[in-house]
Amino acid sequence: MIDQLIADRAGAIDASGIRRIFNLASTLKDPINLSIGQPDFPVPQAIRDAAVHAIQNHQNGYTVTQGDPKLLSKIIEWMKLDLGWDCAPTGQGTDNQPTTFVTSGTSGALFLAFMAMLNPGDECIIPDPYFVAYPHLATMCGAKAVVCDTYPDFQLTAERVEPLITEKTKFVLLNTPSNPSGVVLSSEEGVKLRELCKKRGVLLISDEIYDEFVFSDSLNAVAAGDSGMARCPSPARGDGMHENVLLIRGFGKTYGCTGWRLGYAAGPSAIIDQMSKLQQYTFVCAPAPLQAGVVSCFDADMSEFVAEYESRRDMVVERLSKHTTVGTPGGAFYVFAQVPEHLGMTGTEFAEKCIERELLVIPGGAFSQRDTHFRISFATNRERLSKGLDILCELMGG
Ligand code: PMP
Repeated sequence: MIDQLIADRAGAIDASGIRRIFNLASTLKDPINLSIGQPDFPVPQAIRDAAVHAIQNHQNGYTVTQGDPKLLSKIIEWMKLDLGWDCAPTGQGTDNQPTTFVTSGTSGALFLAFMAMLNPGDECIIPDPYFVAYPHLATMCGAKAVVCDTYPDFQLTAERVEPLITEKTKFVLLNTPSNPSGVVLSSEEGVKLRELCKKRGVLLISDEIYDEFVFSDSLNAVAAGDSGMARCPSPARGDGMHENVLLIRGFGKTYGCTGWRLGYAAGPSAIIDQMSKLQQYTFVCAPAPLQAGVVSCFDADMSEFVAEYESRRDMVVERLSKHTTVGTPGGAFYVFAQVPEHLGMTGTEFAEKCIERELLVIPGGAFSQRDTHFRISFATNRERLSKGLDILCELMGG
């Protein structure tokens, strides 16, 4: 009876594939968990101290919907330095000026972007493999996520996207560095994709939640400000590029505080202003004391952790590539490897075999219409990672 009260949009979302794996995993006492998508380093002390200080000093009420003014002004400074954008807080931009606001996690920004742009029946284009939430966000809007197959190199190129654009397309969603593949789209390909979107009158949304986790071989773009700082390539970079790009970034992965639910969006004011209006009636604002916590984060030096992840990446790729096809991720902390063909197994079957050995990996089918791969996260300590790799290599034969 109660089932009849459920909205179609909730019923249309099927989480059974991944749930099955987590149900199986829940029976294990202390598995080697290579399925987790969050950093294994502590939040920098200064950031924790600032959050505690904010709580103790009664910054526990709402902030304005666009975010703590101190944090917003840091984000605006950073947008100028990194991208060359002259952002204003949402609602305060002059003609054609990009605007920005603080969101409840990167997920909050994505949700608001989908809600602000997609009517029932509309389409958006997402990469396959994709971050698990993307197709469901479109479903929630009664819209369709059209998947762009990016196998085997996982590059969302203009060439692959172009044939998928229709009159119904509202935006193309890029994720660089990517979850689950770690692939970084080059500056050249990013420009081509942005120009294609512009030519066809659709928006490019760039989910750059892993932008700080970029390894030396992909750290080959330069900040737009005069610092000369090496940065991850981004199609958003450059004065005026905001006209066709909605940028979404987060704090959770970069500073190890995924539970704080903090992110930000920047882009054309017409879109950002609608998103912040919707935020006012949903999330209201991001958590106030935690926003105060990350005010100083753009000064934090995370390079030690990124270097450690690069070295773990090298270890993972070196070991797995002896047994299967695996690319070298340019960023994030994931490797997306193929289940060796000689095993004759799907990604799900392989993940189940791993569970029998008390090892958790995520089957490729959770991120894709294909179920030929598996994802491991190397955001776990070396000893456990190395044990996990021993088991994977054994299961893959040899
Ligand atoms: N985008 C991508 C590509 C992600 O991998 C994730 C988290 N795994 C998110 C967005 C959501 O991040 P947040 O925790 O900031 O909502």
